[in-house]
Order: sequence, then structure tokens, then C-alpha cells
Amino acid sequence: MSWDDQARNGRILIVDDATENIQMLSHVLGEEHELLFALNGEKALQLAHDQQPDLILLDAVMPGLDGYEVCAALRASPGAQDIPIIFVTALTTPEHETRALEAGAVDFITKPFNMAVVKARVRTHLTLKRQSDAMRELTLTDALTGIANRRSFNDAFDNEWRRCVRSGTPLSVIMIDIDHFKNYNDAYGHQAGDHCLQQVANAMRHCAGRPPDMLARYGGEEFVVLLPNVEASGAETVAQRILLEVRRLAIPHRMSTVSDIVTVSIGAATLAPGDGLSPEILIRAADRELYEAKESGRDRYSAA
Ligand code: GH3
Ligand code: MG
Ligand code: MG
Repeated sequence: MSWDDQARNGRILIVDDATENIQMLSHVLGEEHELLFALNGEKALQLAHDQQPDLILLDAVMPGLDGYEVCAALRASPGAQDIPIIFVTALTTPEHETRALEAGAVDFITKPFNMAVVKARVRTHLTLKRQSDAMRELTLTDALTGIANRRSFNDAFDNEWRRCVRSGTPLSVIMIDIDHFKNYNDAYGHQAGDHCLQQVANAMRHCAGRPPDMLARYGGEEFVVLLPNVEASGAETVAQRILLEVRRLAIPHRMSTVSDIVTVSIGAATLAPGDGLSPEILIRAADRELYEAKESGRDRYSAA
């Protein structure tokens, strides 16, 4: 089996302070899966965040952080809380099982290992993980354009807002609205309108390409770009780039009053999030600037 196939079958983090347990588990699981190992709880937390495994096999009893503490820490951590955890334990009293389930484990494997049971449980939970990943992807993606949807933007916006409050860094938001898009639908039909939305979304994808940046469909023919740690001047650069990239598509628009091709209007706003401020302020400011761009002639940006 190639490394690619293994990766497709899921990446598993095995956490155990006894190397002989790790060896036994790698022996049964190493054929089908990509494996990561940790000999203690601290290393497990680090690998879970950095490597994003699809499943964690977690020894209950370890020196230092034990399995229950590792489990509770992962459940409380936004970067790792969705990774399923199977407890590996010799302690199978109802009290121990309850404690593990309450800490957030999805299942148990008991020592000494029964290899058929280990394989079956691992397969089941990897399949469930794959399904829930696919489901989450669907709920966060806009079906027409394939970019993030509004819900996804709202989640990211709340997170970035809080992060910028802590770090004291600025946050920029850019609102984009296609000009005379109702007329576009009237002139070319709704299907052509849909295709136009896809093209515009695609053109904007690379205008803000750093990892924390996010382009989302805000609704209808409105889009939004979230730019964490970006000053007003940086937001203007992105806005100009978007204006240019959409014009470069040169999609004919015979019923626009501002051009003979499809154009957009843009509102940009930047703020250093503070404790007393509400995140809504930034969205409203960008919206106001968008209105300003529309009022002053469209096919342009306005910045707060
Ligand atoms: P303005 O320049 O002031 O923004 O004018 P506009 O016509 O673009 O704005 P308005 O808000 O009046 O109209 C938006 C239009 O966008 C109306 C709606 O039919 C169209 N629209 C919204 N979502 C979709 C979609 O998913 N597909 C298509 N084809 N059209 C859509
Ligand atoms: Mg609109
Ligand atoms: Mg519009």
C-alpha cells in the first residue's frame, strides 16, 4: 500500500508510555494507516494540534498528564476538539468507562489487545470521522461558488475578532457587491447570472491569499473578505486587486450604466478590535463604505 493510500485511510495518533504497546498497535494498524506516536500527554497535545490526526488512540494511565487530562484538554481546544479519541485501557470497570466517556472519548479498546477488535473499532471511527468531515465541509461551503459561506465567515470573524483583541492587531473587512446584477439576470438569464457569480468568486479567490485571509459569499451577489492583521493600506491594496481582477474577466454586461462589462463596488473598513467594541461595528462600517462606493458611481472602492 502506498503512502498516499495510507493517508487516505486516515492518520492515527497512538499515545502510550509503553513502547511495547505502541509496537503492537503499529503492527496491526501500520499497514492500512499513517501513524504518529507520542510517549506522553504533552507530546500528544502538540502532535494533535500540529498534525491533525483523524483518530487518537489514547492510553488512560500515563505518568505526567494522564489520558483523562489529555482528553479533556483536547475537547476544550478549538484546534483539536473534533478529533475522535478511543481510550486504550486495562481498567474496564463501569466507573473507569464512565470517566473516560465523560472526558469525551468515543470508544474503548481494552488491554490485552484483541487485534480483530482493534482493527474493527478503528475502521468504524475513521469512517464516522470522514463522514462528519464531509458534512462539516458541506455546511461551511457555498454550493454555487465553492467558497466559504456566510456561516463559515461568521465563525471565522468571531474567532479572528477575539484573537485581534488579545494580540492588539488590526482587523480589516472588505464587502464586495456586483454592480447592476439584477439587470444582468434580466438581460442574460438566471443561469448566466449563476455562472457570472462563479467566475467573479474565482477571480477573487487569489486576491487575498495568505492563510488567515478568507473570502466568503455573504449572500446573493455580495461577497466579503476577512483580513486578519491587515492595516487599512493593505485592505486598499486587496480592494484594488479585486476591482482589477473582476474587470479583467471582461464579462459583457449590456445593461450596466457604469461599464459594458461586469464590475463590482467595494467597501473596506479597518479596526483594532478592543474589549468595549462589538464586532458588528466593523461589518457596518464596511457596509457603509460599500454604500458610499455605490452612491459615488460604482466600479470603485471606498475605505473608512
Ligand atoms: P447595485 O448595483 O445597486 O448593487 O444593483 P443590483 O441590481 O446588483 O442590486 P440588487 O440588490 O437590486 O439586486 C441583486 C440581484 O442579485 C437580485 C437577484 O436576482 C440577484 N441574485 C442574488 N443571488 C443570486 C444567485 O444566486 N444567482 C443569480 N443568478 N442571481 C442572484
Ligand atoms: Mg446587493
Ligand atoms: Mg449589486
